[in-house]
Amino acid sequence: MALTLQRYFALSNDECIDCGFCRDYIDCSLNTDGCIGCGACVVACPQSARTLRARGSEAAADEKKVNRRNGGLIDCMIDGVAHQVRGPLSVSAALAQLGIRPETNASTPKNHSATCQTGGCWDCAVLIDGELARSCITPLRSGMQIVSDPRAVDQAVPKRVVTMMRPAPHRHPSIFTHGCNYRCDLCHNWDLTFSSTANALTPQQAVAQLALRPETDKWIGISGGEPTLNRKWLVETVREIRLAAPQSRIQLDTNASRLTPDFFDELVEAGMTDFSPDFKASRLETFSRISGIIDTDEARRYMQTVWTAICHAHLHHADSVFMVVNIPCHPLIHTKGELQEMAAALAGLGPEIPVSLTELQPAFRSRHYPRLNRQTMETAAGFLEEKGLKRIIIQGGEGIPRAVDPNELMQSVEDF
Ligand code: SF4
Ligand code: SF4
Repeated sequence: MALTLQRYFALSNDECIDCGFCRDYIDCSLNTDGCIGCGACVVACPQSARTLRARGSEAAADEKKVNRRNGGLIDCMIDGVAHQVRGPLSVSAALAQLGIRPETNASTPKNHSATCQTGGCWDCAVLIDGELARSCITPLRSGMQIVSDPRAVDQAVPKRVVTMMRPAPHRHPSIFTHGCNYRCDLCHNWDLTFSSTANALTPQQAVAQLALRPETDKWIGISGGEPTLNRKWLVETVREIRLAAPQSRIQLDTNASRLTPDFFDELVEAGMTDFSPDFKASRLETFSRISGIIDTDEARRYMQTVWTAICHAHLHHADSVFMVVNIPCHPLIHTKGELQEMAAALAGLGPEIPVSLTELQPAFRSRHYPRLNRQTMETAAGFLEEKGLKRIIIQGGEGIPRAVDPNELMQSVEDF
């Protein structure tokens, strides 16, 4: 019996400024299979101009524009079982709705937990016709042979979409991982985080492309996007960097929302020496607002994991891993009271823990946010000092490269 699953398609509204991101930076199937309703463009649009509509609804005329071909039944094999489902839809949506894997469709705002859902992290990968492929933005097609069993998928060499940089002012080589489980309106790296058109690389390929010079590259960064989303890829990449540059420091910048103690230990064993977790908020409502995680259970879980990671690093790895806790802040988001709650918690753990107080600059969907002057940041640093923190550095102003404006996308190619 053919199964008709819930299917979606995406539309733009009048807020579109024709920046081209959804056309040129997302590996969208619109021109090959029609819109599969994956939702990647909805997450990535800096104007919030894309929305998903349920197919078969009152918007039938609109649906035709994005559904030129693949509206029929799709015969495929999943883990050795034949299925027939009505398209168009992504492989991950089919797996979820057939009950084979949990939901990863970005159209369901309550579910951001599993993966990036925008084609960057490859944590949702399955084997399709024997090759590793990200399921979130890959259209389900007739004749596909899909293997979703994690034991089989784990045998494949992991991949991930990455961008290599030597950003000013440090000129240290860095790997920027695409894809994130947060949905921050102030995402500073949004143009990398949500793009999916670059090649996905294995750890070996990524480190080869980094072209490390062990004599001079004494510090190597891994940032994002959220590097921890694809655990196997991250651990193997740290190992590869350690092999290529045995004496270098290896720093992980992370939101830490998925960095459990065993994952942290594995990274230390692989060669991580520096750790910079984001401590975004102490209050649930602030965390949800800043991260875009609106499911309260999920937001609570993430906040707890972040705090556990900070404690674990300080209590169990202080001798081998240098931690700088990053507090991104803006007076439109954080009150003095909340900054002091965060400072008190950190100072209770260790007043000497270094803290980087970072200005949240206008970016992505919050390009209207006011820039902060030095005095405002110093005042905020004073709030933290009052609660006992002793080592605070301020990052803001020209010290942070400006976020890419959607109107200037074509000038923002930074890969080397
Ligand atoms: S990403 Fe850019 S082009 Fe696409 S809908 Fe949004 S504003 Fe318009
Ligand atoms: S990114 Fe996904 S939802 Fe958006 S137009 Fe392309 S296929 Fe449709």
